[in-house]
Amino acid sequence: DTREFYRDTWAEVDLSCIRDNIRSFSGLLADGTEIMAVVKADGYGHGALPVALASLDAGASYLAVALLDEALSLRQQGIEAPILVLGRTRPEDAPLAAEYHISLTVFQEDWVEVASARLQGQEKVNLHLKIDTGMGRIGTREEEETKRLALRIENDPQFCLEGVFTHFATADELESDLVDKQFQRFDKSLEWVRQTGASPSLVHCGNSAASLRFPERLFNIVRIGISMYGLAPSPELKSVLPIPLKEAFSLHTRLVHVKKVQPGDTISYGAAYTAKEEEWIGTLPIGYADGWMRRYAENGHALVRGERVPFAGRICMDQCMIRLPYEMEAGELVTLIGRQGDEKIAIDDLAAQIGTINYEIPCLITGRVPRIYK
Ligand code: PLP
Repeated sequence: DTREFYRDTWAEVDLSCIRDNIRSFSGLLADGTEIMAVVKADGYGHGALPVALASLDAGASYLAVALLDEALSLRQQGIEAPILVLGRTRPEDAPLAAEYHISLTVFQEDWVEVASARLQGQEKVNLHLKIDTGMGRIGTREEEETKRLALRIENDPQFCLEGVFTHFATADELESDLVDKQFQRFDKSLEWVRQTGASPSLVHCGNSAASLRFPERLFNIVRIGISMYGLAPSPELKSVLPIPLKEAFSLHTRLVHVKKVQPGDTISYGAAYTAKEEEWIGTLPIGYADGWMRRYAENGHALVRGERVPFAGRICMDQCMIRLPYEMEAGELVTLIGRQGDEKIAIDDLAAQIGTINYEIPCLITGRVPRIYK
């Protein structure tokens, strides 16, 4: 038996959607703008390695992750493309970045001191200087600190200042003044960096939202995350998308038990669901430990035989119940995210239903749910 898993719940990731989305971005962006595929958080829950391979195959030239561990994992799985760690790496760990050719984000002078001391005799590490133009998260803000840091890196043989970048806080909002302010501050910061004599080869500020809205203004590389997976960065951008986005992720399970219940019978913890008549109830082998959160049951639906059906009672850790329109056999396919016939449950629908953003939905489907690639 060569199966890799033995449960009736799985996610499907259609890598052709990811390739198509990358190619659509290539067509949209100004000539010469490269694509850095953001595969942090296990590729937003889709699987970092398969997504990295698909995006590189479709023309992305760089990968981005949040953590050094994520970059090392990709290297250990054979990825040779350049990788940038977007978050702060501990300076003590810079030698690992040197050994595995991983680019790091830098924004603190004392970081450079510690990392430099640890790196003596090792290969150069590529650094990307992060500017905080308004996100308020990480990055330099002032002229003096930015110039000092750029100079410090320039003068250190252990480092190459490969990139300068910033991140937008509100690029997904059509009416935000902050985006223009961040563009202006970034232009000014680039001037400061260049005044020190540094000439970083990569300059980047575009996330998915900025890439969709300002494809001509994004320097020479963009960092595409959410929209590579086929999702719009916000509901308001959905109506003004300049390219089609193909949703890659779907989630499926199978009925493992079906029973008839009588009026007044209750279902699941808290006995919060009471059958009003004779009803057919199906049990699904997925629960909140799979990332199928309890709140999905509130006004939520599943698809079975092309019909939308409601959940019955609370979602448990590993199982939940749905109300079937008529008797069905165990083994019947049930779709929780994705399409059956004319009906579709989109990640955006689930996000709206529980009052969150689409990013959270696939990220939170846990590692216990196998991912199948098409
Ligand atoms: N760049 C940075 C620094 C990020 O933190 C992220 C994601 O949060 C991205 C790029 C990708 O953003 P998006 O998924 O909106 O395209």
